[in-house]
Amino acid sequence: MNNSALSVLNTVFGYAEFRKPQDEVINTVINGNNALVLMPTGGGKSLCYQVPALIRSGCAIVISPLIALMQDQVNALTLLGVKASFLNSSLDHQQANNVEQALMQGQLDLLYIAPERLTQPRMLSLLQQCNIALFAIDEAHCVSQWGHDFRADYLQLSLLPQQFPLVPRIALTATADPRTHKEISEKLQLDDAKHFVAGFDRPNIQYRIGQKANARQQLLNFIRHEHAHDAGIIYCLSRKKTEETANWLCQQGLQALPYHAGLPNEVKELHQNRFLREDGLIIVATIAFGMGIDKPDVRFVAHLDLPKSIESYYQETGRAGRDGQAANAWMVYGLQDVIKLKQMLDKSQAPEQQKRIERQRLDAMLGLCEITTCRRQTLLHYFAEHLAKPCGNCDTCITPVEKWDGTDAARKALSCVYRSGQRFGVNHLIDILLGKNSAKITQFQHQQLTTFGIGTELDTNQWHSVFRQLVSRGYIYADMDSFGAFKLTDKCRPLLRGEESVELRKDNTQLSKKQNARKSSKSKVKANVPEHAEPLWQALRALRKKLADEHGIPPFTVFHDSALIDMITTKPGNREQLLAISGVGVSKLDKYGDQFLAVLSEFDA
Ligand code: ADP
Ligand code: ZN
Repeated sequence: MNNSALSVLNTVFGYAEFRKPQDEVINTVINGNNALVLMPTGGGKSLCYQVPALIRSGCAIVISPLIALMQDQVNALTLLGVKASFLNSSLDHQQANNVEQALMQGQLDLLYIAPERLTQPRMLSLLQQCNIALFAIDEAHCVSQWGHDFRADYLQLSLLPQQFPLVPRIALTATADPRTHKEISEKLQLDDAKHFVAGFDRPNIQYRIGQKANARQQLLNFIRHEHAHDAGIIYCLSRKKTEETANWLCQQGLQALPYHAGLPNEVKELHQNRFLREDGLIIVATIAFGMGIDKPDVRFVAHLDLPKSIESYYQETGRAGRDGQAANAWMVYGLQDVIKLKQMLDKSQAPEQQKRIERQRLDAMLGLCEITTCRRQTLLHYFAEHLAKPCGNCDTCITPVEKWDGTDAARKALSCVYRSGQRFGVNHLIDILLGKNSAKITQFQHQQLTTFGIGTELDTNQWHSVFRQLVSRGYIYADMDSFGAFKLTDKCRPLLRGEESVELRKDNTQLSKKQNARKSSKSKVKANVPEHAEPLWQALRALRKKLADEHGIPPFTVFHDSALIDMITTKPGNREQLLAISGVGVSKLDKYGDQFLAVLSEFDA
């Protein structure tokens, strides 16, 4: 390893060692070569260009579409004693001039810039006149026309190798799929770049997927038992639901704010800022909330609605626990969710081929929900990664799922659909199976069906579970053209003919409750703070918040939770010992060291 790189890591960033493959990436770039870096969220992409920026001579240019984030990134670097600045449309003429002056005079280590600005002829000619250390292209998947983050300006970045042939380029993304990878490589002319792919596993995230019983209440229990005072994101499908859920959570005494594309810009900005700057706030959002939320201490991501694909699920849950501390990815779903998503797909105007791909994606997502084996193994397998053993940190590992032979029940359910003419939805079908005497039963004379009352061995919930699993697995579907009536698919034949059997999972709506009671699944951050140290923890957090507010920055920019926890466990008594803590570099030591030491010594007695 390059010694100066390690020493920059230690003294500037306060970290002891590089993660894989940071060191190799950094070496590649320091040596003037191009790199393409694929790392999961929280993997530590920023250091891959920030360290070379400090070692190579000249200023590093960081291209990022996330204008709202630039100020925070620059603030964080400034705290570390790094000379960083940004150029984007939020600056007025004078401010932009000052930054350009600093750049021309060689006073900057890093300059963040929006792509549309970089590619302006005037900017390019300015850059031609300075010494450039490297170009870092962040969120490089924005160059992909397939993804939903496509930015036309990113295509222009292909001019960099022509205009700056000697300056190394490093492209970074958290998007995993090989097609995007290839597109980045082609469109950014990085064929000669060394590729670095970090493993996609996020071991600190616990995956849990359960059945809806009373979703809001389940969510509230989960938060109260495991994440009181923690920051979290709750994803819902509709704008209305984000607002209703946020309101309801507030009525229950939690601090929650909605976020969706339909809110006025000021409100969105305000909510996003509060989420970053306040401790323990919850955001209830549509998928509009995501890219650019660079908050390391999100302790949980909850889904009240099913995502459309494993890609979305992984990206959204990936926003939890970027700091490497324990975090939860929690989701509940039910038959209605499955039906709704399938119907949305059917109704979509997309070309048939795209619909087919989206259907496959949804089926993979449903498969993940219904599996009875390790969730993480399935997730990683989907991204073509192999995990040898069950992870021990997902719901199916923690509480193994019971299975049952559902062949008989499935046949009864399917014949019931068939005999009643494929014209009815789940509730009526269950009434028939249970032999209920509802008005609708009488109206259609369904007492006379051979399937009337043949399913009394299961209760309503269990039948719901059977129907959900049959829809998930594609035996039946809800037909929108007949008011959502269930219809059989070809897949049913072998099952109805007795040539095939099905194993179903035994749903356990108690699952989450039981798990809630488990001490071990408690957020590790809190578990790491011994009960008696709670007052010190609160005092350190209060000091952190005060300093952050003074500087107008988010608390985690001052120190991460993990650094505060290290302070509690190692009890540093002087500056040298404080410097040994991960996340404490020389600059922060100078700025804040004495104040934190003072609080620590106060509690030492
Ligand atoms: P990404 O951009 O890949 O999502 P970041 O660059 O924001 O990830 O890094 C995620 C977190 O991990 C940050 O809080 C960062 O400070 C921390 N981190 C990165 N590299 C290291 C390291 N070598 N040692 C300790 N912490 C690290
Ligand atoms: Zn597992």
